[in-house]
Amino acid sequence: MLTHTLGFPRLGAQRDLKKLVESYWKGEIDQSKLIQSTSALKAVHWTQQKSAGIDLVPSNDFSLYDQVLDTALLVGAIPDRYKDLYQSEQEKSTSYPIDTYFAMARGLQDDKHDIPAMEMTKWFNTNYHYIVPEFSADQEFECLSTKIFDEYEEAQSVGVVTKPVLIGPVSFLLLGKEKDTSDGFHRLDLLDKLLPVYQEILSKLQDKGVEWVQIEEPFLALDLEDDAKISFQKAYETFHQDLDSLKLLLTTYFEGLSDNTALACGLPVDGLHIDLVNDPDQLGNVLDQLNEETALSLGLIDGRNIWKTDLQKAAAFVEKAKEKIGEDRLLIGSSCSLLHSPVDLDQETDETALPAKVKRWMSFAKQKLGEISLLKKLVADELSADEKQKLEKHQADVDDKRTSELVNNPSVQSRMDNLDDSYLNRKQPFTERQAVQKEHLNIPETFPTTTIGSFPQTSEVRKWRADYRKGVLSEDQYTEIIHKAISELIKTQEEIGLDVLVHGEFERNDMVEYFGEHFSGFAFTRNGWVQSYGTRGVKPPIVYGDVHLPDPVTVPWSAYAQSQTDKLVKGMLTGPVTILQWSFVRDDQPRSETAKQIALAIRDEVQDLEKAGIQIIQIDEPAFREGLPLRLDKREAYLTWAVDAFRISSTGVEDKTQIHSHMCYSEFNDIIEHIARLDADVISMETSRSQMELLDAFVQFDYPNEIGPGVYDIHSPRIPSTEEMVALLEKAVEVLKPEQIWVNPDCGLKTRGWEETIPSLKNMVQAAGKMRRETVES
Ligand code: GLN
Ligand code: ZN
Repeated sequence: MLTHTLGFPRLGAQRDLKKLVESYWKGEIDQSKLIQSTSALKAVHWTQQKSAGIDLVPSNDFSLYDQVLDTALLVGAIPDRYKDLYQSEQEKSTSYPIDTYFAMARGLQDDKHDIPAMEMTKWFNTNYHYIVPEFSADQEFECLSTKIFDEYEEAQSVGVVTKPVLIGPVSFLLLGKEKDTSDGFHRLDLLDKLLPVYQEILSKLQDKGVEWVQIEEPFLALDLEDDAKISFQKAYETFHQDLDSLKLLLTTYFEGLSDNTALACGLPVDGLHIDLVNDPDQLGNVLDQLNEETALSLGLIDGRNIWKTDLQKAAAFVEKAKEKIGEDRLLIGSSCSLLHSPVDLDQETDETALPAKVKRWMSFAKQKLGEISLLKKLVADELSADEKQKLEKHQADVDDKRTSELVNNPSVQSRMDNLDDSYLNRKQPFTERQAVQKEHLNIPETFPTTTIGSFPQTSEVRKWRADYRKGVLSEDQYTEIIHKAISELIKTQEEIGLDVLVHGEFERNDMVEYFGEHFSGFAFTRNGWVQSYGTRGVKPPIVYGDVHLPDPVTVPWSAYAQSQTDKLVKGMLTGPVTILQWSFVRDDQPRSETAKQIALAIRDEVQDLEKAGIQIIQIDEPAFREGLPLRLDKREAYLTWAVDAFRISSTGVEDKTQIHSHMCYSEFNDIIEHIARLDADVISMETSRSQMELLDAFVQFDYPNEIGPGVYDIHSPRIPSTEEMVALLEKAVEVLKPEQIWVNPDCGLKTRGWEETIPSLKNMVQAAGKMRRETVES
């Protein structure tokens, strides 16, 4: 029985990779220094895994930016716009085309170049983002980058024999996007051209003496069209004919094989990895259908959450598999790459963020290594006295979490028991509410203007918060500074001429962490970074127990802002689905239950805001779409409870109180009916980057409530002109009524500078004014 991980976090315990790559970008270190330092970082990860007892340590799971981009470079899929750059870099004979690589990831803008970046999108249903490969009908491939070979040798030189990781050809194509679909071109058509390059890569690995390659085909765990199924067969039969000593470990994760079980089990590979954390029920079927020669890798240690594994329970799975196929054909490991876990729990020493009583239930990547090797010894009955003790303590922690009173809050539970339909509905339907609101809220009849909430978070603003946290600023001093910023912002917004104002969110570090810090049932880390994309990390809060909001959080800030103006100030909250989605969530009850508890807490805050005189309240749900399950048959159930959670949070108000929501980061067209079911009076959505693709949804679907399709792309420092925004709004008028349309940016302005924000918003207000005049005239 062999142990392995599917990948290790690459950021480093101190976010080392972030610091190195960003210094390279700033020109503070050169390429050789970057390569040298990242080599040292990789060596740490390899030796750490080896000494923890991992038999097959992964290599090529490391990346300077993203593993899909690495694969594109490996097979020579460089889009044309980077070809000149690549040529000139090759002429300078650099070993690795690192500047081309970073240009593909982030774009390149200097005096000589202006090349846009490749697209980035979410890695399945995680919060990791990958670079989307681009394919054209006349695409050619060649084995181009040597990274996968170099890393194998690099590991060897520090005494670790590794299992190189490679994204499989079918998933690689499916992860990409056609640049042009004329003549019915589909990216899977490129398989025949791609396979020889993969054959070359695999045989090179074989020549180097590699024993196992982890070839990843996560799409095998998703719903597949027939042509994809045929592609899998073709690819793996082709490889099988070629290879003799090299073993392929075909890996799937994030979902179960379900209807693809026969397909996956029948492919001529040496091993198959399945995710038993996501789908424990698949084990029986897989054991029944697996090819006789194929080994089975059991993904039993959760790569995506932070709770200790119940090793006794996991051992039962291993026993079951052992009985059926024997231990020689078994591997045990993480469910997916540990990329999605923070690095090291030992670094969390701040009890105020993470109490010891909760910390004892948890396990980060480094601790998960220990779990994997302990599990192997438990099943093999090879535990030393020391390890027996360790296991006992481990299981005691697992039991402690199960029975702890810390997770229970009787008053939350009784509210949950009493949840009924009355929590899901406003008093009257939208049309009636709309009439009441038009009468009560003095907002323009058509094209009212507003923003999404945050305004530029300059380093000054961040320093106020840091100083307050450190105690450099007293509570009173801090409040005074924030009040001053709020009242200045109110004045600025009045001058710009916006209709509905905001307080600016200066007091918030992060839209989820800020609320989490005030909820009971939440804990935090100081160093629990998880890579989100490139050098960017996030530090998700941890929901460990029943959630409840002891005191109002945002009311004092919003009430203060409202006291500074006669215009309406919009209260600003984060919605239950987004808070859930961007946290590590307890696993002892369904996510839907946790979402509804958070929703009740937000409902309390909404009602408190209303009592304090706030008449418009926005509940942001940028991650609403992100929670959508990968498998189609699970989507309906998610959408039902996610919509319910939003409604629980938002419906406890009078009809005259206007509820807004906001969504961004995703495509929404395919779930627009469910978005309508949220029954928010107004929703603002990101659209301007896609030139209002969202509006296509309204040709078919008659969106009932009010909506603000974003007209100002806040992802770029560009100042959009009035004409541009008018043009976008004119598109909107083709499918929506002027009384329905709000005018707002795509998202919050916190990453922008004041220099561009003010003129952009002025143009936006002008665009709205122009639209009002035009529609009155016509
Ligand atoms: N209200 C938040 C802001 O303006 C919304 C952020 C988001 O959608 N991600 O920053
Ligand atoms: Zn947004």
